Amino acid sequence: MARIGFVGLGNMGGPMARNLLKAGHAVTGFDLSSEALAAHAAAGGARAGSAAEAATGADFVVTMLPAGRHVRDAWLGAGAMAAATAPSAILIDCSTIDVATAREVAGAAGRPMLDAPVSGGTMGAEGATLTFMVGGPDDAYAAATSILSAMGRSIVHCGGAGAGQAAKACNNMMLAANMIITAEAFVLAEKLGLTHQALFDVASKSSGQSWALTSYCPVPGPVPASPANRDYKPGFATALMAKDLGLAQDAATTAGAVTPLGAEALALYRRFLEAGNGDVDFSGIIGMLRGLAGR
Ligand code: NAD
Repeated sequence: MARIGFVGLGNMGGPMARNLLKAGHAVTGFDLSSEALAAHAAAGGARAGSAAEAATGADFVVTMLPAGRHVRDAWLGAGAMAAATAPSAILIDCSTIDVATAREVAGAAGRPMLDAPVSGGTMGAEGATLTFMVGGPDDAYAAATSILSAMGRSIVHCGGAGAGQAAKACNNMMLAANMIITAEAFVLAEKLGLTHQALFDVASKSSGQSWALTSYCPVPGPVPASPANRDYKPGFATALMAKDLGLAQDAATTAGAVTPLGAEALALYRRFLEAGNGDVDFSGIIGMLRGLAGR
């Protein structure tokens, strides 16, 4: 059993902390939301009065916060978490944030720190089936795997500080572009009088195959579990995809990488988001593309 501090008990962090409790760890939680904190206590967790208190005396301290500024502030700024931890503590940030902030916080924390963003969404958080993409030192990674495996099924050590965030940004940029081109192909098929099922049957066994097509098909029918079959309820919300694509473009600009399709994917998802679709699954962008084709 480990003593774990957990800060950020929202849609993802709440169920992740509950899975640590189920695995027999002692989890002291903190969140600005009293409702989130009450749910953590109801699941058997201890409540802290501040982020620093949650970090005090813990073997591992996990954050699951909205964005880079929250993470910097919690660890190094007003939250003062890094200074509150024991020198032997291992710090783990599971939030999805920009690579530069992840490296800055890890460099300034004065303790071994891992960036460990996840994929798998709230269902993965509930079911402890998340994938963790981890950046940071080998020994901290080795020590943290037992903690991460209580919350996820697949854990990949991607390299040094920031490598987990880099992997997440690259993966989601590929996913977004794959989804858009898959949706475009279905819209073209509709115009050409080709059925959805016929395109699926061919492309799923041909070179057009992708996860966006075979696991997350943006039209109803061919993949019964995809959000298209439930009116595009997420799933993976457009607001989160737009956020991740913004992080990928920030990283590309900083690193001097040329990513024209990633930039176009961001522009299209921002347009879909600004039309009021933040809570719609990201595969719902096919509706916007169909509308453009109808003009
Ligand atoms: P959320 O908004 O539900 O939860 C964030 C929690 O952090 C909230 O409860 C908020 O009160 C708390 N918080 C904010 N600032 C705080 C502070 N200073 N101290 C203590 N608590 C604070 O968000 P979420 O959906 O749980 O997402 C968390 C992170 O996980 C984000 O970076 C997101 O991009 C990433 N993520 C989310 C999903 C998803 O499907 N929701 C999937 C993968 C990754």
